[in-house]
Amino acid sequence: MGKSVDGADVKTKLSIVAPCYNEAEGLGEFCRRAKAAAEAAAGQSFEIILVDDGSSDGTWGVISGLAADIPQVLGVKLLRNHGHQLAATSGLAVARGERVLLIDADLQDPPELLAEMMAIMDQGADVVYGQRSERKGETKFKLITASVFYRLLTRLTSISIPQDTGDFRLMKARIVHILLNMPERHRFIRGMVSWIGGKQVALQYTRDARYAGSTKYPLKKMIRFAIDAITSFSIIPLRVSAWMGLISAVFAVGLLIYTLVQWFEGNVITGWSSIMAAVSALSAIQLIALGTLGEYVGRLVQEHKRRPMFLIDCVVQGEVTSELPDD
Ligand code: UDP
Ligand code: MG
Repeated sequence: MGKSVDGADVKTKLSIVAPCYNEAEGLGEFCRRAKAAAEAAAGQSFEIILVDDGSSDGTWGVISGLAADIPQVLGVKLLRNHGHQLAATSGLAVARGERVLLIDADLQDPPELLAEMMAIMDQGADVVYGQRSERKGETKFKLITASVFYRLLTRLTSISIPQDTGDFRLMKARIVHILLNMPERHRFIRGMVSWIGGKQVALQYTRDARYAGSTKYPLKKMIRFAIDAITSFSIIPLRVSAWMGLISAVFAVGLLIYTLVQWFEGNVITGWSSIMAAVSALSAIQLIALGTLGEYVGRLVQEHKRRPMFLIDCVVQGEVTSELPDD
């Protein structure tokens, strides 16, 4: 629920949620385009929620400025960098719209697609997600790793997570509500939304190059993101460890029999290198298995702590800064 000019409660038709991490340069342009798209789709009944995910550039200053200028802009400042998925989640938690558009702030996902997404939702979809038919301005490395990742994920998980989709999507409030009630801390939003189900429709689009700045997903974050995705949706890696163990056990028994036969025949085994090779291969397999187990156990420990998913420092709307969002 939002407040109208005369203070009465009215339903907000649309919320646009954009996580921002060091996006100061492009935010003005993003807001202009998002606002135009929102006005075309929902008249004046919308809000644009910009989440500052602990940026170290002037992002919060820009967001405060935009909030002061544009009444529909709501700025949310997190206490520190929580990462894309949690920053997005905090924005969704603040959103009050009947429909919520989750979008990156770097203008790689064109806000103008909102019109088409709204039209598809008018026909009964619960979720309309953008599916990238083409990606501009990405490095070869990013394209290849992303493609391998999505294909691996499909093989490893039992629910169908659509290929080549990001978090750019329009969702009905009830889907957002369910999503927010899913308590896991390691969040892989696109997978979680797929898991929820309902009527989910893809909309093909060309992903543009960034408007300004550079990607905030360096290799380390990409790997962490991929591990989060796989471990939250699949236990197959644990089974792979067990299979690797079984296969190496069969090899070990074979090797033992061979060694015994050689010993009975009086052959002194001189193959130091072959033993070293076998030992190092086996310890590698064991370490991989242990590491895989560790990933899951570590997640159990973290989930068990039940810490809050994100910490909001303050919220700004118009000229007013408050410590908690008003609801
Ligand atoms: N982002 C964020 N926190 C982070 C990293 C990224 O809020 O720790 C935001 C970022 O500002 C952008 C979106 O998440 O709006 C997607 O990030 P980015 O464009 O860097 O990822 P890419 O498109 O390169 O995969
Ligand atoms: Mg981007």
